[in-house]
Parts: sequence; C-alpha cells; structure tokens
Amino acid sequence: MSETVTSPLSRTFHAEEKRLLQECIHCGFCLPACPTYMENGKEMDSPRGRLHLMESLLEGRMNLDSAFEEHMKLCLVCRACETACPSGVQFGHLMEATRQSIAEVKQKGRLERFLLQTVLPSHRWLSFLFTITRVIQILRLDKLSTVPPLSLLVPKKLRQLQLSLPTVPPRRFGRSYDVHYRAIRKQRGTVTLFTGCVMDHLFPHVHTATVRLLTWHGYDVTIPSDQACCGALHAHAGEKSMTSFLADQNISILDNCNSDYIVINSAGCGSHLKSYLTYIDSGISSRVVDLSELLAVIEMKPKAIGPTDPVAYDEPCHLLHGQGISTQPKTILEKIPEINLVPLKGSDRCCGSAGSYSITETEMSLKLLDAKMDDIEASGAAIVVTANPGCQMQLNWGVKRRGINVEVLHLAELLDKCFRIDPSYPTDPLVLD
Ligand code: SF4
Ligand code: SF4
Repeated sequence: MSETVTSPLSRTFHAEEKRLLQECIHCGFCLPACPTYMENGKEMDSPRGRLHLMESLLEGRMNLDSAFEEHMKLCLVCRACETACPSGVQFGHLMEATRQSIAEVKQKGRLERFLLQTVLPSHRWLSFLFTITRVIQILRLDKLSTVPPLSLLVPKKLRQLQLSLPTVPPRRFGRSYDVHYRAIRKQRGTVTLFTGCVMDHLFPHVHTATVRLLTWHGYDVTIPSDQACCGALHAHAGEKSMTSFLADQNISILDNCNSDYIVINSAGCGSHLKSYLTYIDSGISSRVVDLSELLAVIEMKPKAIGPTDPVAYDEPCHLLHGQGISTQPKTILEKIPEINLVPLKGSDRCCGSAGSYSITETEMSLKLLDAKMDDIEASGAAIVVTANPGCQMQLNWGVKRRGINVEVLHLAELLDKCFRIDPSYPTDPLVLD
C-alpha cells in the first residue's frame, strides 16, 4: 500500500490499522448485512465502499472532503459487517480510527463538544439537564414545542431528542452507589456493577432490577461511585483523548475491585469496554461480562408472567455483533414458564439508535426504526425485550410514533417482573449490608 505522508488518515492508521484494512478481499458478503447500504443501495454507504474510501484517502487518491465525511458519518458502527465478513475485518476499529482522523482535522460544533467533553462524563451535568427535562415533561412543554410558533424556535434535532426521550424518573440510580448489597441466597460469588452515564439517570429501574436478580441468585453486589461514562459515544465520535481518559479511569477503578465479575447490563457499554480491553494489557478482561452471560449459566426458576402475551427478543447490535452474544438472552427467556416467544424478522438488524445517531442522522435513523416497527407489528409481539438502554429508548419512541400497544422491556426488567410474583423475592429497599 503506497501512502502519502500528508494523508489525514496517517495520523491514526498505524501498522495494525493498515494490516486490518488489507484484510478486505472485496467479496461483498457484508453488503446485505449493512443497514445503510440496504436502505439506500449506495456502494459508498456499504462496508466495502467505506473501506475503499479509507484506502483511497490513506493513499492520497482523494481528499478528506465533505462527501468522505458524510459516508463515514452515516455508518452506524453497528458492526453487523464484522459478523458477516469471512476475512475477519475489524470494521468498527477502522471506523473509529477514521473518525479520530476526521475529528483532528475538522473541529466539532460547540454543542457537540460540550455534550461529549463536559456533560456525558459528569453526573452533575447529567442530573442538571435531566432535571430540566423532567420539568419540561411535567409541564408538557416538549409537546408544545412541536406546535407553531414554538416549533419554529426550537431546532428540529432538539425537538426530535425531546420527543424520543422516555419519561425522566424522579431519582437517578446514583443514590445507591458505594452500597454493598449482600447475596440473599447461598453465596455464589461477588459482582461489581458497571452503571454507565445516561442509563443511571433514565433507566435506574433496570439497575435496581439487576441488583435484585443478582443478590437473589447469590451474588454480593458492589457499585463503585467513582466509575465514569464508558466512553463509547466518544469513541464513535472520534474523540480519542476523552475515550482513553474515560476508559483508563474506569479500568483503574474496576481493577481495584476484587469481585469475581464486572457485570454490565448495557450492550453498548459492554462492547466498548471489552474492545478497549483487547488493546491494552489489563487483567480484568476475563472478568467483564454482560448480565446475560452470567444469568444464562445459573439455575433459576422465575414464575410465569400470567397471560402469555407474545414476547419477541430484538438483538442489540453491540451484544450480537460487538460481543458475539445471542443465545444467552434467549436461554434466559426460555426459563420463564409458559413464555410465548415469537420470532422477530430482522431482529439482528439495527433499530437506528446507535448512540447519538438518532440525533445526528435522524433521517436514516427513522427509516431504520420504521422498518423495525414493521417487523415488530408483523411478529404480533406484545412485549419486545432488549438488553441495551439506547435500543430501549429508540424502540419506545417507535412504539409511541406508531401508537401501538407494545411494551419494551430490558431483559433484567422482564425477568425481575417474573421473580417479583414470589413473595419472598426482595422489593425496595434492596438488601443492604
Ligand atoms: S458498521 Fe454497520 S452501518 Fe457501518 S458499514 Fe458496518 S454494517 Fe454498515
Ligand atoms: S465481507 Fe469483509 S472481506 Fe468481504 S467486502 Fe466486506 S469487509 Fe471486505
């Protein structure tokens, strides 16, 4: 590969990235797996096309112009192409390296920088913004902002964000930090729970359900307060220094935990931390597991949820393609007596959430969401189960837009619901040491 020293990609494409790029044999097996290619049919919005563009830029045959940037931005980093690729091309890693180069050459807008560098890494900022959002929701100003003349004043992307957010709960999960939850039943081991940034504020009930499930099944659970945002959104946006800063902070904290497992119930955070760990020498990689990996292998006896509403499982990209986890969540669902599990066509295809993609690439995101909702409606499911907060938010937004009667639940929530039928199962407050 002949490379010009002036290529903007040479900043982040080192020997390893160049080797990975050359692994592509241009077979095109990845094309049908790529949601953006399947949606618009453009080769340059396919994995093969994007790799070709990266190679052309690296070899100085093209410039880092707005067209190049658009093709890269439209990628969901869903990594479905990695699962389909017979050559093992690590597309996600190459896309992140490409976006780092773009970020070094073209500075991001002020708002995006503020959100990535100041808001996401800070629970104080997140608390502040979600408190304002809660007030807006209580006063129903979010609905008002869609009606003229207010709709003319509020930027379209902000309106989209407001409408797609779930109801902000009154309290974040953070109040439970630095608490030790003792195993309720015969002790199996110890767990450190990784709680992330936005999930802590918008889905505290999923963390609570996770702690109840773990303690009930014999795990002591600790939740260190100084853990930070995982940095996945920063990596997708090419923010290298913030990505490394957050990952290093988390790794040093998690490294000091003596627990048997570091459990993550967000597919996006889990995928990011696991891939980050493959590039550094850390002893904790073998202990980082998705919640479903741990629960699938233990004996459990949930109660039936009553009327057997059809349940479909939608696979989060960062669980399926990012971590290779597919059977475990289904194994867990099958443990629920009388469950009516129905197949969901396209369950391996991205719902269009992809971190901040629904805000940055709203048009494509909504097309993918509409396709997902068509498949959900066709499946007849009354409950859709996921294992990632971003997907949960996006699917809920899809349900709201369609006005259909479908409940979207995290796997931990559904399982917890089944166990709560048992009167001896703990309710709030959780068992403290
Ligand atoms: S990561 Fe997803 S959107 Fe991007 S090229 Fe691969 S399959 Fe397509
Ligand atoms: S499947 Fe893999 S080797 Fe084939 S074109 Fe896609 S990325 Fe290249």
